[in-house]
Amino acid sequence: MKFNTKLIHGGISQDKTTGAVTVPIYQTSTYAQKELGGTPEFEYSRTGNPTRKAVEDLIRDLEEGVAGFAFASGSAAIHTIFTLFSAGDHIIVGNDVYGGTFRLINTVLTRLGLTFTVVDTRNIAEIKEAIKDNTKAIYMETPTNPLLRITDIKKVSQIAKKNDLLTIVDNTFATPYIQKPLTLGADIVIHSASKYLGGHSDLVAGLVIVNTKELSNQIGYLQNAIGGILGPQDSWLLQRGIKTLAVRMEAHQKNAIAIYQFLKNDSRIAKIYYPGDESAQDFAVVKSQMNGYGGMLSFELRQGLSVKKFVESLQIITLAESLGSVESLVEVPAVMTHGSIPEKIRLQNGISNELIRLSVGIEQKEDLLADLKQGLDAATK
Ligand SMILES: *Cc1c(COP(=O)(O)O)cnc(C)c1O
Repeated sequence: MKFNTKLIHGGISQDKTTGAVTVPIYQTSTYAQKELGGTPEFEYSRTGNPTRKAVEDLIRDLEEGVAGFAFASGSAAIHTIFTLFSAGDHIIVGNDVYGGTFRLINTVLTRLGLTFTVVDTRNIAEIKEAIKDNTKAIYMETPTNPLLRITDIKKVSQIAKKNDLLTIVDNTFATPYIQKPLTLGADIVIHSASKYLGGHSDLVAGLVIVNTKELSNQIGYLQNAIGGILGPQDSWLLQRGIKTLAVRMEAHQKNAIAIYQFLKNDSRIAKIYYPGDESAQDFAVVKSQMNGYGGMLSFELRQGLSVKKFVESLQIITLAESLGSVESLVEVPAVMTHGSIPEKIRLQNGISNELIRLSVGIEQKEDLLADLKQGLDAATK
């Protein structure tokens, strides 16, 4: 089955009992058992629920993994993954990961005895140098948020395998439509499904996909033990959103290319970060592992222009956190999504106070371009 067909028919695409073409919402906490001490497929909805299983099997098929797991948020998914490790273990983390992941690491997981080294995962030498006797995993994003930096997943996985480390990739920005980390050697993929997979800004959810039976057993155990599961209503909404991923991503990408061209040719823009930038140092890796450039781009206004006036004067593009939805969203990472990172570290990592992140929606291109143009005019005054 090709990917676009899998989006519709992957996992469990129909109800076995009635033939309903959409999976029903099994709004139940428990299930009648036929015999005492049997092994029913479903016994309690924290452990398993048919609607959740439909979305878990769907993402398993899309990422070409062995098993999928759905959580109440991307953050719950990430937290559960980190509980694979124990006090004293060491994990290497990319330096440009989601702000909330840094918060979880710095203020929660270190308290529980996990240790971390932050590196630029694009630099293999830096990774090698960070590996210690107690290192257990490399955790990264590509493209990163908000600077859209690209790491070579194959190269990192090779180093990881040589050193008996797990490679964990947050694939939220690319989605499996553009990139499938498990096929490039990664062991675990994470999604904030609140973004492109859900796709409509109407849900918070997380997904995990693993590439071995052993990891599947471990994550299944932890999902049930910790209990941060996705409920049946949101599971249904998520698999409904995923079905249109291909058409949405195509529309996001087309608009993003048009906006990139527009910004590139406007002298009021000082810098643009975009995976489709052919002059960027990461572009060869983009070509080798990604099937497209996605719908995200970040940029800086030239000095003297007002970031505040720009974002506040936009009419169609909404000033809001989050990304990956049908509507275009703009935000200023230093103040919003990445505000929890200490300023010194944030600036070191290249996230300036002037950086603007744009999640390009699927509105009519001309309307988005006109909105950006009037926003830039307002920022210049
Ligand atoms: C939003 C996001 C998360 C966190 O997911 P939630 O669903 O908001 O908990 C993790 N990683 C990335 C890349 C994200 O954009």
